Amino acid sequence: MDIDTIYNSIFEARLAGRYIALRHLTPLLKDYQKLGMVSTLGTSENGNPIYAIRVGHGPKKVLAWSQMHGNESTTTKALFDFLNFLIHPNGQPQVQEILSKHSFLFIPLLNPDGAEAYTRENARGIDLNRDAVNQSQKESKVLRRAFEDFKPHVCLNLHGQRTFYSLPGKKPASLSFLAPAADADRTLTPSRKEAMLGIAKMNAFLQGHLPGQIGRYDDSFNDNCVGDSFQKAGVPTILFEAGHCPGDYQREQTRKFLFYAFLSLFGMETVGVNVQVEDYFKIPENEKNFRDVILRKVVIGGELMDIAIQYKEVLQDGVVVWEPYIDEFGDLQALFGHRELEFGGNQILINSNENVFVNEKIATIVDKSSEKIIKI
Ligand SMILES: [Zn+2]
Repeated sequence: MDIDTIYNSIFEARLAGRYIALRHLTPLLKDYQKLGMVSTLGTSENGNPIYAIRVGHGPKKVLAWSQMHGNESTTTKALFDFLNFLIHPNGQPQVQEILSKHSFLFIPLLNPDGAEAYTRENARGIDLNRDAVNQSQKESKVLRRAFEDFKPHVCLNLHGQRTFYSLPGKKPASLSFLAPAADADRTLTPSRKEAMLGIAKMNAFLQGHLPGQIGRYDDSFNDNCVGDSFQKAGVPTILFEAGHCPGDYQREQTRKFLFYAFLSLFGMETVGVNVQVEDYFKIPENEKNFRDVILRKVVIGGELMDIAIQYKEVLQDGVVVWEPYIDEFGDLQALFGHRELEFGGNQILINSNENVFVNEKIATIVDKSSEKIIKI
């Protein structure tokens, strides 16, 4: 069975889109509860439960946590796809092998308060990925205790990244990885090397599906970041950043490729089994050259320019909507848009004005020559 067919047969259809809060996970957690796989690790600052799901009986212990940043839900969807695959193997013999080699502890929603409000931070406005040393928040303590009690051999720190991340060749960074540094000198410690090999293996496999769209984060050390602190403690830790695929603002494509990454990492795929640490460094570093929309060659207030627009994700009545804001303007040839509109020197009005301001929210754009409203 090819990997697309496998994915289509195990895809967790009860989760979709960008807004994933505890209530969306409740029916799934109930099912896993019936299988005896769910435990409660503690509560969030607002008193919401933080759950863990355990599966597998092998010697290699894998701890993965998602939505430490509440609005980064793509990896949560992918975790449930992977879980569905592990308990509904559809005759895939490799599943038994994965389960006999690994014991997984998944924390699908580490920051339930942030997820509810669709914010990066927790209920007290703290970025939990800058709280590894301070341990000031309940969620940070829950994760630290899980780390100490479970004693993982590998950690997966699951996140999402914004649409502006790019790679050479005008490619979007659809998935990015990092083997975080374990110290300020960025020493290649044994655990860090193991994380690098895991990433290089996933990259080798994913290049067959997302050519040129896999990136690498810069590795400056910050021991307040959880990944850095676990790496420092000697446990191979991999940062996953789910990014943008063209046209996929709901991140349903990215979700699929994360599932592919998990299969590769845990031994379902043979591509990349002979990778070396150097292969990790061959993965291009993330750049920041994409914008959601670029208006090319517009004239506004008598001046010829390009205008870059970025969407802000806003939660409205339980649905995430994308609101356009002016990001920058001028000669923007160095940038590329996920969508580009060519105006050939036509005059436009933004919000009925002949002015443009950075961080201005866009209500309307009108092409003055045709009186047409431009849909953004
Ligand atoms: Zn994040």
